[in-house]
Amino acid sequence: MARSDREVGTVTVPQSQLAALREAAEDGVSFDGFGVSVEDGTYTLSTPEERHTGLDDAELAVVAAAHSEYVTNWHYWTHADRTDSERAYLRWLEHAGELGVPERYDALSEGGLVRQWGEIHVTTTLDGDQRRYALCHENDAGSEGLETHDGPLEAREIAKYDDDGRYRPLKTAPTLRSGWEFTGLSGRELLRTVDFLYPATVHNWHLERQEDLDVSHWRETAQRQTGIYDLIEELEGEELEWLTEACCVDSQCLKRRQWDESDTEPIDTPRGDGVFPCREPCSVVVAAARTWTLLEREETREYTFELTPSEKEQLEALIDAVADGRADEIREADTEDGANRYRARFLRAKRFDENGRLCGVPTDDSVE
Ligand code: SF4
Repeated sequence: MARSDREVGTVTVPQSQLAALREAAEDGVSFDGFGVSVEDGTYTLSTPEERHTGLDDAELAVVAAAHSEYVTNWHYWTHADRTDSERAYLRWLEHAGELGVPERYDALSEGGLVRQWGEIHVTTTLDGDQRRYALCHENDAGSEGLETHDGPLEAREIAKYDDDGRYRPLKTAPTLRSGWEFTGLSGRELLRTVDFLYPATVHNWHLERQEDLDVSHWRETAQRQTGIYDLIEELEGEELEWLTEACCVDSQCLKRRQWDESDTEPIDTPRGDGVFPCREPCSVVVAAARTWTLLEREETREYTFELTPSEKEQLEALIDAVADGRADEIREADTEDGANRYRARFLRAKRFDENGRLCGVPTDDSVE
């Protein structure tokens, strides 16, 4: 039902919230277009649409009840124990920056307001004078028969493995498994659930909005490494473009990379379109960087291989398919695809010697 078609004040204002409003009016209330003040023993209550002056105690109660959305909205956002980032995030979920209170309450009570957070679909609805939150994988939005959870801790297990049961070392990789939902969560439970699925993303998102994100660029991060990782400092320039293209682009990670080589040396790889930022090279990237640092120490050599043009293209297709994670999707019957398993086995049978060397060419001349 549209706002104009129904009565105002459809949410009941609890007596405790009315008492809190009277008390707060002494210092003045101003929130989301709603205002209440008291002067010479009478109250003034205003919304973007109306203004009521000279109200006594009883009249304030009547007018507040007629504008119950504004009262409960004010109380919900000002009386819960939340950090700034938690509050900002929950308000973002219900589009508080874009929708006025009546429009928001209409939407919250008629199907809810939706946001996307990585691969998560979050719906906020109204439950009396409170909010309730539901979340599921974006691919499951609107589906029935999902595995229902109500405790945030269960999100930790969901985040561990992908749909094929493989461990997910990078929690922000776009490989969150589907088939589950959380329903009826309070604001606090929602925040804990999101933190298990995408750790620290809400906090960093908020810091970025405050222009206070503490970015640690590659060089600082690399210099901090000790032990087996201290060698990653050797990677620089173009190598960091290859590294970020390998690990940090949208197809591999949902964070938007905000770090560069240093604050004066940008890395040209696209940063990504993710809603939450990445403030420093993560442990997965640092571990991969160690491998590449060791490999990049090698000098190039010239090798001579005899391949047909199609075999050369097949090797390129194989690398492409593995790099894009498509190798498992290529059907056995699709022998036209260079990364087809039978094609790969044929090439190996034809071109590898008994020691697994391409065209029998040794990697190191000294080892025959
Ligand atoms: S360093 Fe790259 S892969 Fe790691 S979290 Fe940041 S953007 Fe994602």
